[in-house]
Amino acid sequence: MSESGPDFSSFGLDPAILRAISEQGYTSPTPIQQEAIPVALQGKDLMGAAQTGTGKTAGFALPILQRLLPTASHSMSPARHPVRALILTPTRELADQVAENVRVYGKHTPLRSTVVFGGVDMHPQTDALRAGVEVLIATPGRLLDHVQQRTVNLGQVQILVLDEADRMLDMGFLPDLQRIINLLPKERQSMMFSATFSDEIKKLAKSFLKDPIGIEVARRNSAAETVTQTVYAVPEADKRAALVQILRERDLKQVIVFVNTKLGASRLARHLERDGIVAAAIHGDRSQAERLKALDDFKAGNVLALVATDVAARGLDIAELPAVINYDVPYNAEDYVHRIGRTGRAGASGDAITLMSPAETRQIADIEKLMKKPLTPETLVLPGGTRREERERDDHRSEERGHRSVRSAVRHPRPTQAPVDDWFSKPYEPAAAVATQTPAVAMPAARPGAVARKPLVGALLGGGRKKTGA
Ligand code: AMP
Repeated sequence: MSESGPDFSSFGLDPAILRAISEQGYTSPTPIQQEAIPVALQGKDLMGAAQTGTGKTAGFALPILQRLLPTASHSMSPARHPVRALILTPTRELADQVAENVRVYGKHTPLRSTVVFGGVDMHPQTDALRAGVEVLIATPGRLLDHVQQRTVNLGQVQILVLDEADRMLDMGFLPDLQRIINLLPKERQSMMFSATFSDEIKKLAKSFLKDPIGIEVARRNSAAETVTQTVYAVPEADKRAALVQILRERDLKQVIVFVNTKLGASRLARHLERDGIVAAAIHGDRSQAERLKALDDFKAGNVLALVATDVAARGLDIAELPAVINYDVPYNAEDYVHRIGRTGRAGASGDAITLMSPAETRQIADIEKLMKKPLTPETLVLPGGTRREERERDDHRSEERGHRSVRSAVRHPRPTQAPVDDWFSKPYEPAAAVATQTPAVAMPAARPGAVARKPLVGALLGGGRKKTGA
């Protein structure tokens, strides 16, 4: 991002941090960083309207490191490395990615960090915690497991970050969050980031932020500017053939293929493999190890198509994809914006291709309404036999009806709720040792205007290029 605005040196960050930033190849801060870093450096509470992809992680991680540096210790003694910053994330992948960012940004400092999340052995995490870390990144459930086992002490936390707070509430983490917040000192800095601002989120913000400064990246309509959106009207039965044809014709090398269900993700990945396309599925029914491997293979370029559900894909740090394909049209229009935000980042051009069956016209209508942009379906010519043509003729007739219903929006009832990957939302089993009262922190109301913002669904990375290989 070489637009106007400050460069990182104007924030007064320590040379050790600046060095790490420059090694990452960041030349200038993204819009959310420009706004968040000075506020966070002052120790103020902050409410950020931003989703993954905006550079928000550095927006809170750099100030955290900077604020903790003056008391950083080179001592080997664990007692000299208490947990002083706690970053909570909804998913294991996001926790992992945030932790990697913190590690990288802090690598020239004596500050230590680690990550704890469920689904993997607790022992290595316990060892890391016992050795002492200043910055702890965690998913709520596993953190409470460690609290219960007394392998972590949160009594010296000075800075708390809730990342992707909306997703945390969606996943039912509110009771866990309250338990965790009760364990923290009342005197602390708290920051919250969320892509959307429901009443619930505002309530949560009010309950644990003190006079937060509201920060919002201007909603960029970059989707319209840099992402070419194409919708193909394809009968459901031909979607697989259409997908294979698109992947081959366009010679796509790295693409996320979005589907609406876990079952659909596995099945499609298997079918693609059978069609000679290297594919992997990432969804909630896969083990942690399988999912991380799929992600690593994809990032390394060994997997061409990563078939993902929305929840599994949310928060994945995969930037600048040349294309995303919606094999299923998402049930929620907002998910469409998130999906296509995976491509065309940082001003790079990208393709968002959607396969729309006749039954999905209503969902496309919702997306058009949200994006205030017409998405006119095109026809994809598939080499096929007479049966397909017959089917197409049949489907075409219903499609015609469907197209009309794009406007009338009454013909195709749709599920009221998208299926959710329950793997991510396994609730924490309350531990006997953990208190469950209401938050101990009495919070004054947020400053007028600081929080009440309109929902932000499409804040994309407003700037700089990311180092590849992420
Ligand atoms: P985040 O929204 O924090 O997940 O960041 C999205 C991606 O942008 C990550 O891969 C970061 O490494 C990258 N990034 C963050 N800040 C910058 C920056 N100032 N310039 C270039 N890339 C950045």
